[in-house]
Amino acid sequence: MVKIKEKFKAKPVIIFFGPAGSGKGTQADLIAEKTGWHKITVGELLREEISLNTSLGKQANRYLLKGILVPDILINKLLLQHLQKFKSTKGLIFDGYPRSRSQLKNLLVILKKLVNKNKNINPADNLFGIFLNVSDKEVRQRLGGRRSCSCGAVYHLKYNPPKKDEVCDLCGGKIEIRTDDKPKAIAARLKVFHRQVKPILGYFRKNGKLITINGEQSIAKIHRGIVIKLRKLKLMK
Ligand code: AMP
Repeated sequence: MVKIKEKFKAKPVIIFFGPAGSGKGTQADLIAEKTGWHKITVGELLREEISLNTSLGKQANRYLLKGILVPDILINKLLLQHLQKFKSTKGLIFDGYPRSRSQLKNLLVILKKLVNKNKNINPADNLFGIFLNVSDKEVRQRLGGRRSCSCGAVYHLKYNPPKKDEVCDLCGGKIEIRTDDKPKAIAARLKVFHRQVKPILGYFRKNGKLITINGEQSIAKIHRGIVIKLRKLKLMK
């Protein structure tokens, strides 16, 4: 724990915001690869717990199936569990967290704890949001065609199909539609985004800490846009 506290002193913390299917995960991966910063994808951590059939996974699963937020008590437990496991990083990238005002509050507490050795450091100083702006129509198209493999590979029937129908190029496993990519769950996830996630963008905007990017461009163009902004902020080389 001590090590974690030291490592997080004044380190950059980047949060990717955007509706499901906006490309947050892809862009977070690209930035993590370029910077070496540790990436935390709450949705992935939850799916891992579910596939391992842990008690937390079992409790969380019914919320995922409906496309609604898992209660904070479980998310906080998951995050602490995860943060205690890893030892060092130059920066942090969050994908899919925080998703509500209470989670944002909790994140600030967690960051404060991690940097609390030096009382002069305000954890919010290091905190920046990147908002990938994508319309609801585009989200429905993207998620409706998305297919996933349990190995983590993600395909799209139209834009990025596997070489062989329904078979993962990477592991040969069967690719499937995630239950929460079905129309009813997509609608619920969009509702969560507009009602719960969008309001917290205001916090970042108000503090001049929100980078808004048009998420309906190519992956490479979005990535370039993000890198330019992060370099301007001197957060990465
Ligand atoms: P994602 O893959 O990021 O779209 O997340 C899939 C699902 O995991 C969401 O629809 C929620 O049910 C749950 N989830 C992910 N992140 C959070 C979070 N920060 N708080 C609560 N539930 C979450």
